Amino acid sequence: MLRSFEFASDLGFDIYAVDTGFVRPEFDASYIVANRNKAGTGLEMSLAVIDVGPNAAVLRILQTIQELGCQSTQVAYLILTHIHLDHAGGAGLLMQKCPNAKLIVHPRGARHMIDPSALIASALAVHGQDHVDQEYGRILPIPATRVIETFDGLKIDLDGRVLECFATPGHAKHHISIWDKLSLGMFTGDTFGLSYREFDTDQGAFIMPTSSPVHFDPQALRDSLQKIMQFKPNRIYVTHYSAVENVPRLYQNFLRILSEVEVLGKRFALDPQRHDLFKKGLLSLYIQELRMMGCELSEARIDELLGMDIELNAQGMEIWLDALQT
Ligand SMILES: [Zn+2]
Repeated sequence: MLRSFEFASDLGFDIYAVDTGFVRPEFDASYIVANRNKAGTGLEMSLAVIDVGPNAAVLRILQTIQELGCQSTQVAYLILTHIHLDHAGGAGLLMQKCPNAKLIVHPRGARHMIDPSALIASALAVHGQDHVDQEYGRILPIPATRVIETFDGLKIDLDGRVLECFATPGHAKHHISIWDKLSLGMFTGDTFGLSYREFDTDQGAFIMPTSSPVHFDPQALRDSLQKIMQFKPNRIYVTHYSAVENVPRLYQNFLRILSEVEVLGKRFALDPQRHDLFKKGLLSLYIQELRMMGCELSEARIDELLGMDIELNAQGMEIWLDALQT
């Protein structure tokens, strides 16, 4: 039987999606993975947390751990898919609250979690001071002795439940995905794109690539998705938001939209109005795709739900195109 929680949903296989509360409900997930072999015995379970969300999410994660009958001392690993702040902003705080946890992070991300000053500066550049203060709060450093750098094939053992990490660049160079053999599911952070539950129809989930700053690389993204598909996943756990199924269909849709994004980018690469043209083009692309899925939300509502992503995706496309020129 699935359990119920104040801030989390039970996805089965001892995987729990905690709604971090960032931006809006069902926008940003942190996952708790427990050891199924020991399920029900509470205090003997080992836990892994995959992505945190911002500082404000930490209380929700800790409460969910308590509702599972566990204690924060049982968190053995905090695994970051990548170090964007909507995934990693609360990592330092959660590590303080979980004294036995080790942090698992891509080598390119490790030094920024140990000394977050560059991370804070780049968040300020993208989002501005007010947004960073309000949404993320103070980003805390993590002692180097608690940080483990990932490599392809790194296996994390939760007393017999194994999670396997490998690099999946394309959204960010410091991105990893995590394979969970038990649920035949892949935790993909932002690599496999965004899938908001508001867009679900009887045809299933809508998924779209994210090109947010500063490492968007369409070819690397394609290669990473191909790697993910080699596992034949039954489920994808995206950060934004939660578990999605019928993965082969999502993969095809993702690739189609990604190609359209590339075409749009290259068409207006040198246009002085390109930022606005990208925003307009992305919105109409998403609306067209959503209509094909049978989504009946108004254009205004779609714009409201995707507006922030469209702004960031347009910024990221510009950075990608500028890098192509050099
Ligand atoms: Zn990201």
